[in-house]
Amino acid sequence: MSDAVAPGPAPGPGPGLAHRRPLVAGNWKMNGLRAEAVALVKGLSAALGEGGLERVEVVVCPPFTVLGEVARALEGTGIGLGAQNLHWADRGAFTGEVSGPMLVELGCSHVIVGHSERRQFFGETDETAGRRLGAALRHGLVPILCVGETWEEREAGRTQAVVERQLRTALEVALREGAGVPAVAYEPVWAIGSGRPASGADAQEVAALIRSVLADILGPERAVAARVLYGGSVKADNVADFTGQPDVDGALVGGASLSAEGFAALVRQVRP
Ligand code: PEP
Repeated sequence: MSDAVAPGPAPGPGPGLAHRRPLVAGNWKMNGLRAEAVALVKGLSAALGEGGLERVEVVVCPPFTVLGEVARALEGTGIGLGAQNLHWADRGAFTGEVSGPMLVELGCSHVIVGHSERRQFFGETDETAGRRLGAALRHGLVPILCVGETWEEREAGRTQAVVERQLRTALEVALREGAGVPAVAYEPVWAIGSGRPASGADAQEVAALIRSVLADILGPERAVAARVLYGGSVKADNVADFTGQPDVDGALVGGASLSAEGFAALVRQVRP
């Protein structure tokens, strides 16, 4: 499989981990009318201040409706723009969907793919997440592929099997089109919005599995370059428990990304 893959981004200087600049992405979900959205990113930029983005790459992922407005507000701030989903086709009869070229035109650099809320409420499968992943890579967007088990799956001891299946299927579908290096977010479904995060040790265990699956499919160099994030009730006071782990390179943040001060405080606590 790895022979068929187009070259991805340069893996960085050697096998050490220091070259993986942490990525913190804020998933606003279905929140943010125009004025709120602009105020939030202006407040975030001010709160991060000069130099706040040197150690950590920060991306906000607002709803589609305000992407254009937020892109303008972000100009010159160094904060990146991501969307929350994309369709696998570039255009056509797909009512209600948004394509990769549309996101690129609006100034997006990143896109969330396969979020558990898409899986739970909108019929997203490992296969469709893979098709969206492939489209993102095809258009030069950095996909943040979300994987993670439900509480029932965890209780049944199936965490590793579920995450491996989600990741392998999506990567294999995406790589049919040729691909680079995605970011992968481990987001246990039971931790999202619950105030009950996983432990740092649990996140590390799954992040290491994710990296080994990436190595198997993409090859070791690209697996070392890929960023693996943790998501699920991350706040300023617990983010370092995750980013201090050797295989965790940042966070995907929902609720805590909706406050400029709170999100900036969280970014400041990231341990590279
Ligand atoms: C998310 O929805 O991706 C998420 C991690 O949410 P929260 O931080 O609110 O748990």
